[in-house]
Amino acid sequence: MTTELRVVRGDIVTLDVDAVVNAANTTLLGGRGVDGAIHYAAGPALMEACRAIGGCPTGEARITPGFNLPARWIIHTVGPVWKGGDRGEPRLLAACYENSLLLAKSHKLRTVAFPAISTGAYAYPPALAAGIAIDSIRRFVAAASDLEQVLLCCYSGEDASTYKRALRMEAGGARGDR
Ligand code: ADP
Repeated sequence: MTTELRVVRGDIVTLDVDAVVNAANTTLLGGRGVDGAIHYAAGPALMEACRAIGGCPTGEARITPGFNLPARWIIHTVGPVWKGGDRGEPRLLAACYENSLLLAKSHKLRTVAFPAISTGAYAYPPALAAGIAIDSIRRFVAAASDLEQVLLCCYSGEDASTYKRALRMEAGGARGDR
């Protein structure tokens, strides 16, 4: 099956997909940014579920129900903090996408939405993060996937433009109309 990869602009908590991905921190106990928005919208039961998991190392992912979200599941992943790019950040960011998609696959999910992991408080340059997001997702779905659609959900118009540009660059001349 061909997996559609698309950039959308908006608030990830509103998306009616099988799973939304949360850009969490290693405690999984909530934070600011998209993490705060997801916890607020999902309700307090999410915190209990996260507490029971007991944390998540950078680059890995864990799954909980979506509780009050339209999404049935929340995949929590911990992006790397940008420290200049030579501390393993690209590999760790790629691992976030891969490990999140592995969980989606094992739960037989069809539609998944990612935020722009690490590009907020963790300061990863958006254009670099976008390239890694797209490469990692493409590589995963090319190998084996029942995913119908993967959304890259950007909160700001500027980020949406950056991620769309990366998608166009990746598509290249042959598919330059996308
Ligand atoms: P990180 O700590 O991984 O950098 P942040 O939550 O600080 O995570 O930022 C990651 C991205 O999520 C940023 O681009 C930020 O603008 C975006 N973001 C914040 N709130 C939302 C939301 N409700 N829906 C989608 N993206 C969001």
